Amino acid sequence: MTAQADDHCTRCGACCAAFRVDFHHSECEASMAGGVPLGLALPLTATLMRMRGTDASPPRCAALAGEIGVAVRCTIYASRPSPCRDFAPYAALGMGEDACDRARVRHGLAPLGG
Ligand code: SF4
Ligand code: SF4
Repeated sequence: MTAQADDHCTRCGACCAAFRVDFHHSECEASMAGGVPLGLALPLTATLMRMRGTDASPPRCAALAGEIGVAVRCTIYASRPSPCRDFAPYAALGMGEDACDRARVRHGLAPLGG
């Protein structure tokens, strides 16, 4: 998710409930101020962390609040890890990409398209 205001992403949230979200442990609050809260991530390897809930079945990130496809919010928006910051950067403006569209379709939402 890339957005914070009222836009396509805050009315969606599908990507936060579709893919595993893994990131380097240096992005955790233990390693940097303002990093990902440790309670929301699990160690995956010696160097990788995974957002809690993203490998559940069905997946849903523990940091996601709200109802997918209606109104959602990343509760750690300012501290979200790099995969979330980098994901479909123009989706909030209505310009999706393949992974964004796949996530939306998985949740019964129309793809944004490019
Ligand atoms: S799936 Fe696409 S539109 Fe939906 S929240 Fe993620 S980036 Fe935004
Ligand atoms: S950290 Fe935030 S943006 Fe990233 S998957 Fe979780 S709810 Fe979505």
